[in-house]
Amino acid sequence: MLPIQTIARLVNQARTAIPPDAPAPITDLKGVGPKLADRLARIGVHTVQDLLFHLPLRYQDRTRVVPIGSLRPNQEAVVVGTVDHTEVVLRRKRMLLAYLSDGTGAILLRFFHFSRAQQEGLARGTRLLCFGEARTGAKGLEMVHPEYRRLAPDEDPAADEALTPIYPTTEGLHQIGLRKLSDQALEVIETLPDLLPEALVDRAGLPTLHEALRYVHRPPPDANVSQLLDGRHPAQQRLAFEELVAHNLSLTRMRARADRQPAPVIDDGEALVGQFQAALPFALTGAQRRVIDEIRHDLAAGHPMLRLVQGDVGSGKTVVAASACLFAVASGYQAAVMAPTEILAEQHYAAFRQWLEPLGIGVAWLSGKQKAAARRAMQEKVAGGDARVVVGTHALFQGEVAFHDLGLVVIDEQHRFGVHQRMALREKGANDGRHPHQLIMTATPIPRTLAMTAYADLDYSVIDELPPGRTPIKTVALADSRRDEVVARVAAACAQGRQAYWVCTLIEESEALQAQAAEDTYAQLAEALPQLAIDLVHGRMKPAEKEDVMQRFKAGEVDLLVATTVIEVGVDVPNASLMVIENAERLGLAQLHQLRGRVGRGTAESSCVLMYHPPLSQTARKRLQAMRETTDGFEIARIDLELRGPGEVLGTRQTGLMQFRIADLLRDQALLPRVQRTAERLLHDHPEHVDPLIRRWVGEAVQFGNVG
Ligand code: ADP
Ligand code: MG
Repeated sequence: MLPIQTIARLVNQARTAIPPDAPAPITDLKGVGPKLADRLARIGVHTVQDLLFHLPLRYQDRTRVVPIGSLRPNQEAVVVGTVDHTEVVLRRKRMLLAYLSDGTGAILLRFFHFSRAQQEGLARGTRLLCFGEARTGAKGLEMVHPEYRRLAPDEDPAADEALTPIYPTTEGLHQIGLRKLSDQALEVIETLPDLLPEALVDRAGLPTLHEALRYVHRPPPDANVSQLLDGRHPAQQRLAFEELVAHNLSLTRMRARADRQPAPVIDDGEALVGQFQAALPFALTGAQRRVIDEIRHDLAAGHPMLRLVQGDVGSGKTVVAASACLFAVASGYQAAVMAPTEILAEQHYAAFRQWLEPLGIGVAWLSGKQKAAARRAMQEKVAGGDARVVVGTHALFQGEVAFHDLGLVVIDEQHRFGVHQRMALREKGANDGRHPHQLIMTATPIPRTLAMTAYADLDYSVIDELPPGRTPIKTVALADSRRDEVVARVAAACAQGRQAYWVCTLIEESEALQAQAAEDTYAQLAEALPQLAIDLVHGRMKPAEKEDVMQRFKAGEVDLLVATTVIEVGVDVPNASLMVIENAERLGLAQLHQLRGRVGRGTAESSCVLMYHPPLSQTARKRLQAMRETTDGFEIARIDLELRGPGEVLGTRQTGLMQFRIADLLRDQALLPRVQRTAERLLHDHPEHVDPLIRRWVGEAVQFGNVG
């Protein structure tokens, strides 16, 4: 261990080593004029330093020549061969075809754009070095528009010495250009301060910043390719570590700012909330009561609440949200409740009206798909203050909506919203310099260490108890060859007065195709089950139609609801006790768990049928098995993590976690405790590192959330 004086001296050196804050503009580089600078600005590169942090997305291996006979589909590779034959053909378009062989095999090169000179340059007998992606064509493998170069008859095809980095780019900016620019930037890398020097932080053997950057921009010939492609190389981990520290600091700082801002003091409502809860047909669980208490405490503190409430599907988050709204209303403020989908927003609107209107509280409704006149009428109620609680989709916070006296924003199923949207909402709701309180609710189970990094600006509560009397959902997996049995099962359940969902899934993101598939299934089921009242809901229907169907299903007038995954989150119909999911093998565990959570919400015994189309892949088999074995969201999340291969990331769509350049919250989980400690240490002992770090990694994006 170093003597304390030495540490102090090192620390001071490190402090003075940070140059004044003036990174060199990108136009300092050779060949960068105003036009190129503009293009670079489009990808967030304004300074020479930004270019060093503009990291490769992936790498191409041009270090060796691959025998054509050993090429696999989708492989990017260098091949060397001789042209056997070239022709111009007219299919739907004119195209140039060249057949290349090397003694181990042959491949077709296909060009849609070509000049006469190019055609002549590919004459029979020409030797070529090509780089491209091999794809399966009609007659074996082919490369479309490969990069190529003619070789002299006896020329030795010199392969590249190192892996080729591929950078994120934009129109008019080529890889070669970017590579040349980053070459120049790498020459002046020494001017870049290491903001996490070993003297300050425990880097546990990870390389220095300069070593790491040099490595990821220009990996050496002997680099471990698969490690690099997975992002697990120590050089990448060093950068991921720094990026995570920067994000953590940025969130912590936003939180510190928020803590200094004034917020409406909401300290009334005991009586009103008591009245509301007494009118419910059930008693709250201990967990619900505890979380409501935490919220009540936050609301009275005089600075904005920022709280994330996690509760598994069916744990009863909606009454918690309603209680929070009532505290605001009783204290003289409006509350807004935002849901991620139309259907969910409509359902919340119906529930809140049913709960709050008997208490004399006006509820309004805002959605993007509303008719203009209806929307205007609602906006007037909101602006005038007649509506005390406003429910809607993100349309709530768009354009002309003005609140009268907003005190609380509730965001349901937060994983659909990113951190910046959250910040923007707070800004939008600000009134007289006072920022509304924010309550965020999610069913996505987030391990605590992950939450502390991804949501470092939020306090965290967990509803860790389900309402009593729920019987566990029985889950079975059946091949779709047994569809008739499943249909019979639906008939039997509905004959007993129960209700069922039939969910159609498609991989395609297209709403139109999804809707079509649901309509087909609906027609088939209506024919097979004439005795049942069947209805259909999908994303292409008008909001009023959807609401009507959902209301009739809720009222028990519809026995079987055929739906797309639009019902995935939040939909609550306690009498529905059978869930059929078609092509369940296509869905991820998180989505399956959410969908299954639509049943088992009442006291009736519920079941879930996962219909699959064989053959099942290994992973799909394991997913279905996990669904059969447990209904615990945390356990399912754990298995989900285990089943994800390296490099497969939990998409931002799914989690709402922030987007990173190089870090991956799940892959890099092991770094998180150290990230946390390092961030704290910097904040307390070296605050002068905080700004440069945030600017380096998070950049201007945070200005959005700059509320101080
Ligand atoms: P989620 O947490 O998934 O949003 P909901 O708020 O939709 O769950 O609640 C699920 C169902 O459980 C609803 O029908 C709701 O009325 C009911 N519920 C909520 N709390 C309780 C409770 N303490 N006891 C019994 N039922 C409850
Ligand atoms: Mg919910």
